[in-house]
Amino acid sequence: MAINFKINDRFNKSLPADKIEENSRRQVKEACFSYVTPKIPGNPSLIHVSPEMLDNLGLSEADAKTESFLNVVTGAEVIRNTKPYAMCYAGHQFGNWAGQLGDGRAINLTEIEHNNKRWALQLKGAGETPYSRSADGLAVLRSSIREYLCSEAMYHLGVPTTRALSLSLSGDQVLRDVMYNGNADYEKGAIVSRVAESFLRFGSYEVFASKGDDKTLKTLVDYTIKNHYSDLGEPSKSVYIAFMKEVTKRTMDMVIHWQRVGFVHGVMNTDNMSILGLTIDYGPYGWLEDYDQGWTPNTTDSTHKRYRFGTQPHIVLWNLIQLANAIYPLVGEAEPLEEILNNYQIEVQLELQNMMRSKLGLKLEDRNDIQLIEELENVLQLSETDMTIFFRNLANLEKDNTHEWQSVIEKAFYKPEEISKTIKECWSAWFKTYEERLKLESLSDSERKSEMNKGNPKYVLRNYMAQLAIDDADKGDYKLIDELFNLLKKPYDEQPNSEKWFAKRPEWARHKVGCSMLSCSS
Ligand code: AMP
Ligand code: MG
Repeated sequence: MAINFKINDRFNKSLPADKIEENSRRQVKEACFSYVTPKIPGNPSLIHVSPEMLDNLGLSEADAKTESFLNVVTGAEVIRNTKPYAMCYAGHQFGNWAGQLGDGRAINLTEIEHNNKRWALQLKGAGETPYSRSADGLAVLRSSIREYLCSEAMYHLGVPTTRALSLSLSGDQVLRDVMYNGNADYEKGAIVSRVAESFLRFGSYEVFASKGDDKTLKTLVDYTIKNHYSDLGEPSKSVYIAFMKEVTKRTMDMVIHWQRVGFVHGVMNTDNMSILGLTIDYGPYGWLEDYDQGWTPNTTDSTHKRYRFGTQPHIVLWNLIQLANAIYPLVGEAEPLEEILNNYQIEVQLELQNMMRSKLGLKLEDRNDIQLIEELENVLQLSETDMTIFFRNLANLEKDNTHEWQSVIEKAFYKPEEISKTIKECWSAWFKTYEERLKLESLSDSERKSEMNKGNPKYVLRNYMAQLAIDDADKGDYKLIDELFNLLKKPYDEQPNSEKWFAKRPEWARHKVGCSMLSCSS
């Protein structure tokens, strides 16, 4: 029985298509996408489906059990009256212009409209496209599990993100050299069906600006405003400026959330920056375990650490500058765009302070807060201190008992034996200042705790947790995927039966590939 998808295709019906329909690698001109059909998988099977996303798309759990659903989300079958396509975009990668990139292994199936919301449905790992360059268009199980679990977990953490509908095996084998060291091996191929209001990226605009194709650039920007930023009004010069301002605001909001929960994206290239301010393209991302501004999980970036935790807000600015350059031909004036970018630099600092204040349970603003926050960040980095456990347990502190700070936060220390006298003194001093600061606040201990717990998650997808799920899944056991998927639906709640996941990274995971070290191989 065919599923009744509520189709409302706009992207491929409104925007210029590549005139060539043959699936060959090429440079595409004056087009926003190329039509392409997903590869027929060898022996597809479903591993997991997100019930929340089914609901969002107007589908039932019964729909998800049909053969038709399996066929659609693995590329075996094209939905009736739809025409799948790969999007054309370019990008700056690791600070350098990389030219045309495009959906090399993502294929958009269709757009669905349900409950006044629009969703683009896309398969990641469903085969070659004109943008596959030298690669195969496929994805492996490990990276697909990571994207599937993390994107849904981020949503439940309140972080703007693309979503995931399903995780499947293609039944085909895929050759990968995980650490790029000459040890290629076959892995299980997988497909994630992912969903977002739109998958447009900064690079989608850069591709036309780089070629001086102002006509297609304008068509795409106007389309974006009409379809995704319609509150801004009919496209005009002032609306283009307002558009830049709004994208800046949304992207800032996203990165502040990343800093709040300790998420490191790992590959903040402009082709991985959503025009809707969504976290997009989950590759070698990671979660901070010990609080370290200099940490990146991405071994491909280990020399310069361009995309380390502490630089993410600044990299957002760098990427916004590329977007501003791309839309400049439509505005024709640098000043208003520069003003937006200058304001970002001021506002992001203020928002980071506000975010840290709320992590500390502070409602009021005090002129010494900046110092309090800076000092905390310093002490947190004196010895390995788990970010998630520290902030979650900090909420247990009692205003009149701050001298007992050690019992409150000691679970967060990775190497308690290394907490020297000097480090203890630094902590004591910080807690003294914090105690004084808390006296300015009117919340009771229990009120403060409940406020803090709304923003300091108890459960995040620690790198080793995803890796455990991957190891089991490689052997055909998917129970842990389901357990983590459900655990991470309520990341701020106490879940007494899952206390084991509120724990520091185990020592075996410290230097393990997949836990602390990830590459772009996926
Ligand atoms: P990423 O940084 O992983 O988002 O990917 C950068 C570019 O490489 C994008 O254009 C991707 O579509 C493309 N890409 C990554 N992996 C593959 C693959 N296995 N096959 C084809 N294209 C890929
Ligand atoms: Mg990408």
